[in-house]
Amino acid sequence: MANRITVDGTTPDLDGPAEAIRNGQLVVFPTETVYGLGANALDSAAVQRIFQAKGRPASNPLIVHVADIDQARRLAVHWPETAQLLTERFWPGPLTIVLRKSSYVPNAVTAGGATVALRCPGHSVALQLVRESGVPIAAPSANLSGYLSPTQVAHLAPEIVAAAAWIVDGGPCHGGIESTVLDLESNPPAILRHGLIRSKVLGEALGIDLQHGPPRNEDPPRSPGLLLRHYAPSCPVALVESGTDPDAVLDRMSLHRYSKVAYLMVHRAEAPQPAIRLVAMPDNPELYARVLYDTLHQIDAERFDVIVVEMPPDTSEWNAIRDRLQRASIR
Ligand code: AMP
Ligand code: MG
Repeated sequence: MANRITVDGTTPDLDGPAEAIRNGQLVVFPTETVYGLGANALDSAAVQRIFQAKGRPASNPLIVHVADIDQARRLAVHWPETAQLLTERFWPGPLTIVLRKSSYVPNAVTAGGATVALRCPGHSVALQLVRESGVPIAAPSANLSGYLSPTQVAHLAPEIVAAAAWIVDGGPCHGGIESTVLDLESNPPAILRHGLIRSKVLGEALGIDLQHGPPRNEDPPRSPGLLLRHYAPSCPVALVESGTDPDAVLDRMSLHRYSKVAYLMVHRAEAPQPAIRLVAMPDNPELYARVLYDTLHQIDAERFDVIVVEMPPDTSEWNAIRDRLQRASIR
């Protein structure tokens, strides 16, 4: 069973977790996006343990967390101007860049691919852990593959707890959804996953338009995570467009037969039936992101039959949220 440490001070003692990383063990740690399940990125056997613990398909590569730009540069064969410009501006932070990998990066990390995804985390605990362990840390979200990402330690699945040598509890994650993944090998650069940093802001920094979002229906996919059902609770998620009357929606979807319905809305309305739980979601994308997974985790724990979600507006600042909701609704 995992050792636990709760971090509340400014300079926590991370000797145990850092040593575990160096020894090839797994560590759960907080980041500004979601909780990560980390291992020494230079140790293939350690990296395999991540795939095993999550039940992650071997074809889905991992993000490597680095302490700074210098460490990132050693993991890529080249460092284009775009990488320098973006990392100086957005690191440490929730931006992941994809570049051709150097020979230091084991194939296990990149799922056999020629590129590596790199990010310098903005959370002080994550950053301290990467620094103190002295190696880059490969870390996907600390959930079972396909399921909701954890934004607090209470969300961790027992299988993940059992697989980790250490769990570092830093309280709830501030960002609440994953990083933005940007491919810098394609020309022009392309968003592979919408995330906490808006594509509009990245596009403005590069002087190009990035808002069209991830390429779809490519074979093989440029980012394997793109095509998966993902970020999903166990109970079914049904999406409805904004401003729709809940009663009409339930009628149309023949949902009356369900005994327990949770309805996540951005615009307030009256509960049409007593059995229906109405959850008022924030109408601001940052705040919505912060509470989204926790809300879904809670509803899932109460075993609702269906979660109906009123979609936020189809505008660029809601891209990442709409993406997560869409993939949560795929069955
Ligand atoms: P997570 O596992 O939740 O941290 O998500 C990582 C995301 O980054 C997934 O969607 C991966 O498919 C994507 N990713 C990681 N490495 C690469 C890479 N080398 N090229 C493209 N996408 C990647
Ligand atoms: Mg994930």
